[in-house]
Amino acid sequence: MPKYIDIHSHINFKAFDEDRNTVLHRTLNDDIWVINVGTQIDTSKKAVEMTNEFKEGVFATIGLHPIHTSASHHDKNELGDEGKEFTSRGEIFDKEKYRELIKQGKVVGIGECGLDYFHMDEESIEKQRKAFIEQIELANESNLPLMLHIRNNPKDKTRNAYFDVYELLKKYSKVKGVSHFFAGSIEDMKRFIEIGILVSFAGPITFPPKIEICDYESVIRETPLDMILADTDSPYVAPVPHRGKRNEPVYVKEIVKKIAEIKGLPELDVVEAIVLNAKKLFDI
Ligand SMILES: [Zn+2]
Repeated sequence: MPKYIDIHSHINFKAFDEDRNTVLHRTLNDDIWVINVGTQIDTSKKAVEMTNEFKEGVFATIGLHPIHTSASHHDKNELGDEGKEFTSRGEIFDKEKYRELIKQGKVVGIGECGLDYFHMDEESIEKQRKAFIEQIELANESNLPLMLHIRNNPKDKTRNAYFDVYELLKKYSKVKGVSHFFAGSIEDMKRFIEIGILVSFAGPITFPPKIEICDYESVIRETPLDMILADTDSPYVAPVPHRGKRNEPVYVKEIVKKIAEIKGLPELDVVEAIVLNAKKLFDI
């Protein structure tokens, strides 16, 4: 059993093209396992291929990120210079293609999928909902947990992506899952726990508090230890003391340490609990 599991990383992205295997070896040598997360068909395929290059400790989830359901901002870290045409078109979720991918490697979940209201209009939100529901259906039929991406628009308090995801899950989902990079309220967290959705915290919990964005300390204090996970979302948003650098899975230790500190529990207890939660949810 590893000491840590980073349940959400993107070592499949272009940002790691130069040193992907070095990063993964560093991760595994540090007794850390990693789940690489697909965001559209190409990054999902890449994540699955990578699981076959390592005997253990490297897993994949496959799915269509809500921002890739429409024309979206092009991120060089994710797709490099190529693929511009592809991202500007947006991808329609093709269940059959993803179903095929499940058989090709150690696929432990579906996503990242969900709702992203950060810079989206009505039309794209409708596309996001449709793609999300289809991914919930794929998760149901393959009995795999959901890797959820949920983001609010701080300028529009009239809608809450966490609540909308909760309602869709209640209506359609038969599986468990995790809300990665959680930045919701205590109420959002409690609703998720009730329906078997774990919450995973990322780099921002180590930053100086910005309560208007998320009151991480209160949310973490209230979240039961058996429902907490930790993720880096590498290459993005590295935790303190690595803030500003390219993120990578070994930094998950800083996030787990901070969770223990906030909860006022011995670090080792939290380390063990979180790894058990991850093993149980993803059946690894
Ligand atoms: Zn991600």
